[in-house]
Amino acid sequence: KRKERLLTLVLVGLDNAGKTTMLCNLRGASTDNITPTWGFSSENLVEGKCKMDIYDLGGGKNIRKIWERYYAEVHGAVFVVDANDRDRIEEARDVLHDMLRDPHLSGKPILIFANKQDLPKAMTAPEVAQALGLHTLQNLRHNIFDCTAKTPQGGEVDQNLKRGIKWIIKAVE
Ligand code: GDP
Repeated sequence: KRKERLLTLVLVGLDNAGKTTMLCNLRGASTDNITPTWGFSSENLVEGKCKMDIYDLGGGKNIRKIWERYYAEVHGAVFVVDANDRDRIEEARDVLHDMLRDPHLSGKPILIFANKQDLPKAMTAPEVAQALGLHTLQNLRHNIFDCTAKTPQGGEVDQNLKRGIKWIIKAVE
């Protein structure tokens, strides 16, 4: 059955975007005092079997060779943006476009999260879409959701986080 298939997604973005917090939230763990994890993977995420590996993007072209091998194996990518960090939105745009130039990702769905919506000056999802130049990605299956990865201890998982992950799981199938 297709639903039993293990999906491999990569969770990427600049450092500090909220990737680790997001994964902890999706797993139902506390988002307080978490430490960033490299290559963490998780099963039964949201629905079905879904494995996610986290990587910070940036860091220059020296790691490009690793990506080529890695992207070939994933079914899709989740790109997290700190919507409150206007100073780094251009850097985020550059690494996103750089990543999407990789032929190993072509035809694969890309989910973008405009994270940290709890902060009053955060850019909305349409603003982030504009700043990232998503309109130039016409040939790509992509979608953007705003979300708040950080929730109080014992709090509910952000519904938009779930919606986004459900979208990409469906897009992969
Ligand atoms: P990573 O480097 O992408 O893994 O980012 P982290 O998950 O380590 O988060 C970086 C910082 O942003 C931490 O201090 C988090 O508590 C904070 N953070 C993550 N998500 C949110 C959010 O939705 N809202 C707020 N206000 N802070 C967040």
